[in-house]
Amino acid sequence: KMSSPALLMRVVASAYSVAEKAATIVRNVMSAGDLGIVEKAGPNDLQTKADRLAQMSICASLARKFPKVTIIGEEELPADDVTEELIEDGHCEEILKKPCPAQYTGIKEEELVIWVDPLDGTKEYTEGLLDHVTVLIGIAYGGKAIAGVINQPYYNYKAGADAVLGRTIWGVLGIGAFGFQLTEAPAGKHIIVTTRSHSSTLVNDCISALNPDTVIRVGGAGNKIIQLIEGKASAYVFASPGCKKWDTCAPEAILHAVGGKITDIRGNSFQYNKEVKHVNSAGVLATLRNYDYYASRIPNTVKQSLVP
Ligand code: AMP
Ligand code: MG
Ligand code: MG
Repeated sequence: KMSSPALLMRVVASAYSVAEKAATIVRNVMSAGDLGIVEKAGPNDLQTKADRLAQMSICASLARKFPKVTIIGEEELPADDVTEELIEDGHCEEILKKPCPAQYTGIKEEELVIWVDPLDGTKEYTEGLLDHVTVLIGIAYGGKAIAGVINQPYYNYKAGADAVLGRTIWGVLGIGAFGFQLTEAPAGKHIIVTTRSHSSTLVNDCISALNPDTVIRVGGAGNKIIQLIEGKASAYVFASPGCKKWDTCAPEAILHAVGGKITDIRGNSFQYNKEVKHVNSAGVLATLRNYDYYASRIPNTVKQSLVP
């Protein structure tokens, strides 16, 4: 007799479809043209109708299927009833067919924490830099990011009308990551990817100290991890507070599933239990390969300026 798939695999399979639904919402709000922009902390910390609707859709859809899982979303929203048209009930069959890694087969709903960034790269979304945008659903167990889904709603949008718009990348520790072509960055080159809209003197000083050949400035934590796993950049370096647990959870799971590494600027790993503070106050350092090379070159003065 076939036993039913493990909870973790059912959550990832559902998160895949839920992220696709959120991506459709993100595209529909943009085509409708009324973004409904609200400033949160200031002009570089925005929320749009797409952030609000996508989060409602993701959180309500996952909560309905997995009522005991803790779900933490970026946006503070009124506890309104979510309309039925925002609910996604589907799942990805292909994910359910993969065997769950043995160490995760016994996980119970109450032990999972799901970190949701309904729209990562909002600033860039409002400026029409649409391929910087991602939907992030990260799954944590025992304080660790163990699985994640990254949807890129506007992947291929410059590739012409024939190209399929959007893609979904998913991964689980011990299984791997799928939905993209894993590619190494050019050997012997130091290509740094960093923030586009949240720079500071410290952010730039830290990058200069790494003697980069190229610096790529793009929006979104999800987008920057995609640059690493597709070989466009060799390190993601952000010596600043501002990035949050929902920005790093899904990217971390996918990066770690393919042998990469992400920590804060001081080399500490991130924790994702539900009680943890949301801000990654000591910044971000991530690579697919050669983590130690970059970590060993971060100046002590930079490390001392950022308190975990
Ligand atoms: P970025 O690389 O600037 O796109 O930042 C990655 C993620 O961290 C995005 O979700 C940003 O909104 C968030 N973030 C980074 N720095 C800040 C900041 N100073 N204020 C608010 N959000 C920030
Ligand atoms: Mg974000
Ligand atoms: Mg966001």
